[in-house]
Amino acid sequence: MPYGKYAECPCCNKIAKGEADIEEDFGYRTMNNGKIIPQSYCRECRSAHCEAGNPKH
Ligand SMILES: [Zn+2]
Repeated sequence: MPYGKYAECPCCNKIAKGEADIEEDFGYRTMNNGKIIPQSYCRECRSAHCEAGNPKH
């Protein structure tokens, strides 16, 4: 799986494959160097301020 086309949430272990799924479940962010990478945490966990090993839901 090419980097950037796969995302796994360390909190709820949700997995998204492909740009459409990642955009929907995780979203992308742009690095300082212009690279676009998937968010580490899924949208749900980000909004819940979830942390790995400390699930909030
Ligand atoms: Zn999650």
